Amino acid sequence: MKTPPQNLLKRNHMILIFLIVLLLSTCSTDHPLAKPTIFPRSSSSSNIQLSLKPLILNGNLSFEDIHEAAKDFGNMYHFLPSAILYPETVSDISTIIKNINEMGTTSGLTVAARGNGHSVQGQAQANQGIVIDMKSLRGPEMQFYTGELPYVDVSGGELWVNILNESLKHGLSPKSWTDFLHLTVGGTLSNAGVSGQAFRHGPQINNVYQLEVVTGKGELVTCSEKQNTDLFYGVLGGLGQFGIITRARISLQAAPIMVKWIRVLYSDFSLFTKDQEHLISSQNAFDYIEGFVIINRTGLVNSWRSTFNPKDPVQASQFISDGKTLFCLEMAKYFNPQEIDFMNQKVDSLLSELSYIESTLFLSEATYVEFLDRVHVSMLKLQEKGLWDLPHPWLNLIIPRSRIHEFAQEVFGNILTDTSNGPILIYPFNKSKWNNRTSMITPEEDVLYLVAFLSSAMPGSTGTDGLEYIFSQNKRILDFCKSANLGMKQYLPHYLTQEEWKIHFGTKWEVFLRRKFTNDPLAILAPGHRIFQKGKVSQ
Ligand code: FAD
Repeated sequence: MKTPPQNLLKRNHMILIFLIVLLLSTCSTDHPLAKPTIFPRSSSSSNIQLSLKPLILNGNLSFEDIHEAAKDFGNMYHFLPSAILYPETVSDISTIIKNINEMGTTSGLTVAARGNGHSVQGQAQANQGIVIDMKSLRGPEMQFYTGELPYVDVSGGELWVNILNESLKHGLSPKSWTDFLHLTVGGTLSNAGVSGQAFRHGPQINNVYQLEVVTGKGELVTCSEKQNTDLFYGVLGGLGQFGIITRARISLQAAPIMVKWIRVLYSDFSLFTKDQEHLISSQNAFDYIEGFVIINRTGLVNSWRSTFNPKDPVQASQFISDGKTLFCLEMAKYFNPQEIDFMNQKVDSLLSELSYIESTLFLSEATYVEFLDRVHVSMLKLQEKGLWDLPHPWLNLIIPRSRIHEFAQEVFGNILTDTSNGPILIYPFNKSKWNNRTSMITPEEDVLYLVAFLSSAMPGSTGTDGLEYIFSQNKRILDFCKSANLGMKQYLPHYLTQEEWKIHFGTKWEVFLRRKFTNDPLAILAPGHRIFQKGKVSQ
């Protein structure tokens, strides 16, 4: 049968759109050494505008000024969306998602919730899709319950720093934190939210009573340990794959006013980890325990002096760090001013159990807010110097305690020659404080170490501070973990193929897949992780 000219035209147009989409999806194939790239918008965006513009929304769907949503803290991946939704109500979010579901698989449209855009590998981006700016969601104000087992109900787009400030007005505070507070509730609960309190309270995903979620089908569901349990645990640590968190009930405790903040140094890794593990095994020791590695750096200890005072200034001034690999144990004890004497005695007693280099005891006192919001101060300083918006090829690993020495020997002894590209954090936590039912994946051991390589790269540099060099170091670390079969799992995981994701999830992959099939069968949500392709989820 002869094709009528109008149909032929329409068919050619469809083929053109198909080819453009194919080209773009090939271009956007992730690569570990991906260069910063902006992808052009395809002509299909006008079709998207035609289909989405008529929707009745309380907020705003913008097809202009979309470049912001193609940026994140990592500054390495830049996928241009078709539009940004600035939702005013939860129903805006479900309307968009339902509409995209109705289009079926033909549209190729995906949706990414964007918290504060502090991912490093494009996880909150949606190539040619819709990015939902969660911070503009104006849910009800934060609502506090101050009775027994206090909690606060907050919007999924709320920044943790705002929750801290509001909670303090009630003498309360969340229990588990991240090191940086200018991240959103939805963003950290989609991962885990880990900091120096995790050894005692577990990650942030363990300190949530209830969630309100818009699933990948556009349904609004309330879930908790007792209600829609599978969705609740799926969403926690679920990389945004099953639903968009629009509200969360966060558990609170009485807030302290002050913090005693302490740093000590070790040159012996065994003594360092022995002390860290000793401290996390005690319920009544410090409230925060972290640590970091210092390789081949001069004068770092001196730079602490603006915040910390050496216990013994004469001995401290004689301490020479040059060239040595050092391990810094960082601890904090919360207290209220009237308890200061008791707290000091307690701290002295705890420190007397440790084996650090005696001359390297540094102490400080800060308010609880100053302590928790400490990275914000560094952020402002780096911003002033134009050093905050650099590419950030970060690598976060979780290593089982039984293999941490082997890991340290190779990585801190051979692979890394210095720590001048950024801090390397290393601290243990108790696996018993993590709920195994969430989507978060960790190795199976009682004590696990978080090791975070938080590098910044100098744009255009081909030297040891350049992106290519840092990528190659990260690759060597990952290759070593694999060849030595360390049982490592990535935190804030980033993989290139579904095969790698399957290995990451291990025995939990089937559950993850089932949850995806149940809650987001067309694979509309969170395309930036590249776990599923739109329209291709099958059990
Ligand atoms: P985004 O980057 O905007 O989003 C992250 C992912 O979550 C995306 O997949 C996105 O689609 C999804 N998402 C966002 N909002 C929602 C929602 N409401 N519902 C469902 N899915 C959603 N992590 C730690 O655990 N501990 C730390 O100490 C820590 N420190 C950090 C310090 C800095 C300076 C930076 C840049 C990051 C740090 N992180 C830390 C990592 C951080 O927790 C994650 O990158 C987190 O995802 C960032 O939150 P965000 O609000 O910017 O999320």
